[in-house]
Amino acid sequence: MPAVEADVLVLGAGISGCALAYHLARRGVGPVVVYDPRTPAAGASGRAAGIVTEQLWNRWDVEVTRESHREYAALAQEGDPSAYVRNGFARWTRSPEVARVLEESLERLRGWGVRVDEATAPDLARWFPAGRFDDVAAAVIGHDDACVTPSALTTLYAERARQSGVVFDFGQPMRSLALSSDGAVLGLDAGPRRARRVVVAAGAWSKALLAAAGHPLPLVPYRTQAALLRPSTAWKEAFPSGHDLDTDVYLRPEANGRILAGDGTEHVEADPERFVPGGDEAFVQHLATSLQERFPGWSDSELVSSWAGVCTATPDRRPLVGPVPGAPGLYVMAGFNGFGLMRAGGTARRLADLLADGERSPGPRAALEPVWPARLAGAPTRFTPKPGFTLEAGDDPRF
Ligand SMILES: Cc1cc2nc3c(=O)[nH]c(=O)nc-3n(C[C@H](O)[C@H](O)[C@H](O)COP(=O)(O)OP(=O)(O)OC[C@H]3O[C@@H](n4cnc5c(N)ncnc54)[C@H](O)[C@@H]3O)c2cc1C
Repeated sequence: MPAVEADVLVLGAGISGCALAYHLARRGVGPVVVYDPRTPAAGASGRAAGIVTEQLWNRWDVEVTRESHREYAALAQEGDPSAYVRNGFARWTRSPEVARVLEESLERLRGWGVRVDEATAPDLARWFPAGRFDDVAAAVIGHDDACVTPSALTTLYAERARQSGVVFDFGQPMRSLALSSDGAVLGLDAGPRRARRVVVAAGAWSKALLAAAGHPLPLVPYRTQAALLRPSTAWKEAFPSGHDLDTDVYLRPEANGRILAGDGTEHVEADPERFVPGGDEAFVQHLATSLQERFPGWSDSELVSSWAGVCTATPDRRPLVGPVPGAPGLYVMAGFNGFGLMRAGGTARRLADLLADGERSPGPRAALEPVWPARLAGAPTRFTPKPGFTLEAGDDPRF
């Protein structure tokens, strides 16, 4: 057997890979090497809107996100206080049918310990003075939700991991990746890196990496967009993040009186090596129309910038985290369906426990059961991505 340089090789230095490296170091697993052909947060993590909300699908999701949230607040407090704001998250609709589902979601969320309440049109008008909500049929507010600066958190995780001895290999192309029962050999120009175990945490690139390694999983990269707007009158008091369920546009306060708004999700497969990185005309137009209707006070905003990033869908919209079926020593942490920022810390801690204690260890395994990759073994690797802030939840018995 060739000399093993690392116990765990993490492929990808987005928030998933960096949070995993941090938690592996905390659990005393090592040596750990994180490899990325680019730099930290060069993928979706550097392009995300940064909304962290507990208005999610199931108890597992809520617990994971709550854990991430607490960790982000603590990391930001120590390293970059501007990277975290607890501002709440409001959602509203004018459709009576969607209103019924939104109202039902309140009880379900409360059952999972989420602090969420009904909101009225006057509440919304108070929180968003630039808005107009007289036609709203129902609204909810999650009091504890927050927004963060995703690239700052990714860097904070990487810095902490590095201080604990994790080695980062950045900026050189991958020449090869060979997997065998002895472990993995990563071919780089600077020489090979050998590892006993490998975690693919490469976001939208994970699909191709796993397929090339002979272990394809059902992951479909798709493009989604966001924009930075500067209203003619800068906002002074931070407002909650908001999601208009009718137009599917979300927005949040951004530094210096600006607004970050997004959606523009495409329901077709994208190539992370060849996607259009700027926001497109149709997206910007959709934002402008939505603002005109719902936020007339912000409809004259200047477009500062717009951009796209590539996220990764799975057929059941739950991530894939844990051992890759039929590939001893190979693990995956991907397929977050557009919500990987808010889930990264809690998911990484659970995967680090699994890697520290072993796959057969019942506790760590149970903690990842709802996202265990084997559930989708053999599923088609081409399907239509269906991401988004869904309302339906709890119907799937696995969650
Ligand atoms: C516009 C937009 C808005 C979003 N808003 C939110 C939000 O509000 N809240 C939320 O929770 N999520 C949001 N997301 C989703 C979130 O950004 C992602 O789910 C999350 O960042 C995924 O992190 P990751 O580390 O898994 O992947 P990435 O951040 O994509 O990182 C993957 C890394 O893998 C690297 N890589 C590529 N090839 C290789 C290779 N061969 N070997 C090793 N590494 C490789 C890449 O260079 C990259 O650095 C948003 C995404 C976008 C695009």
